[in-house]
Amino acid sequence: MTTAERAPARPLAGPPAAAALLGEAARRAQALPTTPNLALVRVGEDPASVSYVKGKAKKAAEVGLRSQVHALPEHTTAAELLTLIHTLNANDDVHGILVQLPLPAHLDPQPALLALDPRKDVDGLHPVSTGLLWSAQPGLRPCTPAGVMALLAHYEVPVAGSRAVIVGRSVLVGRPMAALLLNASATVTVAHSRTPDLGAVTRDADLLIVAAGQAHLITPDMVKPGATVIDVGINRVPTGDGRGRLTGDVHPDVGLVAGALTPVPGGVGPMTVAQLLMNTVLAAERQHVEVHGELVR
Ligand code: NAD
Repeated sequence: MTTAERAPARPLAGPPAAAALLGEAARRAQALPTTPNLALVRVGEDPASVSYVKGKAKKAAEVGLRSQVHALPEHTTAAELLTLIHTLNANDDVHGILVQLPLPAHLDPQPALLALDPRKDVDGLHPVSTGLLWSAQPGLRPCTPAGVMALLAHYEVPVAGSRAVIVGRSVLVGRPMAALLLNASATVTVAHSRTPDLGAVTRDADLLIVAAGQAHLITPDMVKPGATVIDVGINRVPTGDGRGRLTGDVHPDVGLVAGALTPVPGGVGPMTVAQLLMNTVLAAERQHVEVHGELVR
């Protein structure tokens, strides 16, 4: 069959899948005796970080969770940031802590991430969370790749036994994505910027997940007909009016070859915040069980 004869790819829209995940988070939060509480830590006034933190707090309220924004000034020292994290760790009424990245240039994010109580690590980036993920033990998973898994489950995309290829090996997306897919019994390949003949690797994929941060890196000739393609990339491309437009790592014409494709924007993006709130509920549930024993749902 030529591409002209194929039906366009099924769009895997993020908002319905995110709404389902948020609904589940709200339901489970209500079953807890204490409303889950998320501490959002931001340092400085980076406009993107201000907007992300505001969006997370707003979404938390919509789902019926509590949150507080701890906005520290730009000149905050590493010791001051650690003091806040230790205070939040010790507060039994805080169930999840998120340190919004990037931090200002004078602050190394690693000590801040290492200082988090892993039980409250709702971003899933603490080495304890990473170790639990790679050893297939329960734990808090990084939000974007866990959100991709929730999206795949929502649209009933088969994962077990599939050939999955991930483009990108970042700590935030590519690596944890590989572990999650492996735990879900896919056969996993991770490609990256040093992979020769990327198309030969991606054409093998039943499930292609792209998180490279390169606009339109994946073209139709690089995709197996009928494959499911998940575009994690968010790139701002110039439009001439100075405002720019968001586009993914996957060329739109891939929709003529793939069996299913996530749009950008409106694909993986909404899943990330939904998963953060789900992680907050999971963290609160586990903390409740540690103190009071099993939950009755
Ligand atoms: P990153 O820059 O940390 O990592 C990019 C990875 O892609 C690297 O491992 C690199 O080896 C690989 N890569 C780069 N160019 C490549 C090429 N030409 N061929 C093959 N591999 C290549 O980025 P990241 O944090 O993983 O984010 C990736 C993209 O996903 C970005 O566009 C980012 O904005 C987006 N993102 C979206 C969400 C979301 O919620 N939708 C969340 C996080 C990241």
